[in-house]
Amino acid sequence: MDIYLDANATTPVLAQARTAAIQAMVDDYGNPSSIHSTGLKAKALIDGVRALARRLLGAGDGQLLFTSGATEGIQTAVLSSLGALRERRERGEPVGSLLLYGATEHKAVPEALKHWNRLLGLGLQVQAIPVGTDGQHDLAWLAGHAADAGLVCTMAANNETGVISDLDGIAATLQAAGSRAFWMVDGVQALGKLPLRLAERRIDYAPFSGHKLYAPKGIGLLYVRPGAPFTPLLAGGGQEGSLRSGTENMSGIAALGAVLAALEDGRTFRSGAQLQRFRDRLAEALLAAFPGLVFNAPLAGSLPTTLNFSVPGLPSRLLLDLFDAADVRVSGGSACSAAQAAPSFVLQAMGLPDWQTASAVRLSFGPAADEAFIAEAVARIAACGLALRRSCLAGPSEDPLASDGVLQLSAGGASSWLLVDGERRQAWVLDPQPEFNERVARLLRCHSLQLHAVLDTRAPLLAATARADLLQACDAANLAQLAADADAQGWPGRSDAVYTLAPPASALQLSRLQLPADATHPDGPRAAQPVWLLQREGAPALAFVGGAAEHPALAQLLPAGTVLCSEATGPAALRRITAASEPAAQPAISPATLAAFVRSQPGLRLVDVREPYEQLLSDMPALHGAELQALPLSRLADPAQGAPAWLAEPGRPLLFFCRSGGRSLQAAQTLRRLGHPAAWTLEGGLAMWQAQGEPVFMPAI
Ligand code: PLP
Repeated sequence: MDIYLDANATTPVLAQARTAAIQAMVDDYGNPSSIHSTGLKAKALIDGVRALARRLLGAGDGQLLFTSGATEGIQTAVLSSLGALRERRERGEPVGSLLLYGATEHKAVPEALKHWNRLLGLGLQVQAIPVGTDGQHDLAWLAGHAADAGLVCTMAANNETGVISDLDGIAATLQAAGSRAFWMVDGVQALGKLPLRLAERRIDYAPFSGHKLYAPKGIGLLYVRPGAPFTPLLAGGGQEGSLRSGTENMSGIAALGAVLAALEDGRTFRSGAQLQRFRDRLAEALLAAFPGLVFNAPLAGSLPTTLNFSVPGLPSRLLLDLFDAADVRVSGGSACSAAQAAPSFVLQAMGLPDWQTASAVRLSFGPAADEAFIAEAVARIAACGLALRRSCLAGPSEDPLASDGVLQLSAGGASSWLLVDGERRQAWVLDPQPEFNERVARLLRCHSLQLHAVLDTRAPLLAATARADLLQACDAANLAQLAADADAQGWPGRSDAVYTLAPPASALQLSRLQLPADATHPDGPRAAQPVWLLQREGAPALAFVGGAAEHPALAQLLPAGTVLCSEATGPAALRRITAASEPAAQPAISPATLAAFVRSQPGLRLVDVREPYEQLLSDMPALHGAELQALPLSRLADPAQGAPAWLAEPGRPLLFFCRSGGRSLQAAQTLRRLGHPAAWTLEGGLAMWQAQGEPVFMPAI
């Protein structure tokens, strides 16, 4: 069962709302503008829902019109107020020079302001109202600017942090400044969670979206204060009292009506106090699971259904993958790109440190949550914490997963490498990067490893600083008598050309080669540089070459078939001296054709490239006719079980999979680029594969 904790993004549709929508499609399908009985029934339905919404929102005599959602409501409010400002200006009245919006508003607000300001040719200045570290608007700043504002936009509650705005404070500030500005309050996240008393406050416009509170997508509401200027966004047949033309979305309105009815009767949704207790239990579970976790907004001033947090050393992308593996759906502080979560502009506006803005995770639930749901969420959060501890990423672990071989740490365009001989408890780091120091130190501590050398392919000065920083981050107990006689790139003076990293049976040997200076480099001459060569019997060698992947001497220096580990991030770091051409054929297999594909590929090896903490949290799928292997993407370079070993077995077909298909595509493309002819990715990953319900897959035994 999914534990859906992303209610601020959207919610599932409430059962009674689904029933109401279907009834509106099947029985009450009339056009409310028709004057026959079927039309009249539809009209009565709309009127009933509007009256209900009016009561719940405290809308008084204001207008309430049905829209497609908040984005439309925002456009209509902005167009209406900017149109009125233009008319004022044409009459020679003062309009101010500013259009103000809270710095943490949803993007729909500043974008709408800029769009209509440009289209209407107003030329006003669109400016953000600063917020404090608690996410609250800076009222002193607003007081200083309110008199010069034509429109002020402040949300009721923030979608990322749940921070509740001080609407009464804002109203008082506007009034005290004698502001004639129109005031829009985005009520999206407040609907069903906060009393808004729209008419009591001097709010001019308030947009809402049904899908944030268990109604379907495509239905929303806009409140307009009596006397506030109005310009329709949609002109046409005159529906909604000519405020918004177009035949009404009857099934959406009926569904929204069912949600509002549930809100009014108080039986379906939990009280504010109960929701707060739920949030407190989730907060406690998070703090216990993730040592060092911090909440990014004060809980006391936030919606009782939202938690936004960061964990030191754990980027949000990692946490999202972790939660998703436990079938807990959460979101990054803001929208995630495929590779990395973008830092949250909301947290940036609050002035939080970079690490918090880059690693924020939002967990949000709706007011229909119940005891059983919260208990299950708490249990899964605990399981996530345990999986991280076993992977040595959080707190101490009594039974860490084995850590042997080559681990690649990648971020921000560069890779570091950790070489581990688990049996001898020895480790080596190549090309350390500051962002991984904490993680490397944790791994050494958790596995009781001794760091024997920190080697570098980079210039001596950079190398010496990076090495010193890493050693500083590590516990003394994890540092072997690290060569005092190490040279500029960390190679111990006492050793010859070769280190042995593992017992003879699986001998891993590390040796140093020297690349001569390269005077012909296209970006200018390059100094001489060391290359670290890792060899294991029966597999192609790995050469750590840093930025020298194109060096003309590599081909003479390295054994044939060597896999180069260059400076790039992720699997892109793996190259060959003579790059094989990119595969002509599309390496993606769709879940629908998977069964046939397996039959056509005898000996297929299915490789799970998710990280160990994800693998711990979900059943390994089984596939008849295929051998299953777990190899996290960060271990793709491992000579014993990763790309180098598969290259030695070119006849063996490989099908990679991960959570959503991104990492497995990188793995498949890398293998093909390295010259393996038969590597594929499962399109859409486990998410689509499970959705397909392929009968060939079964839970692992
Ligand atoms: N305002 C806030 C605070 C929101 O959270 C959202 C949706 O995320 C919107 C506006 C836009 O709503 P919709 O996309 O439903 O139009």
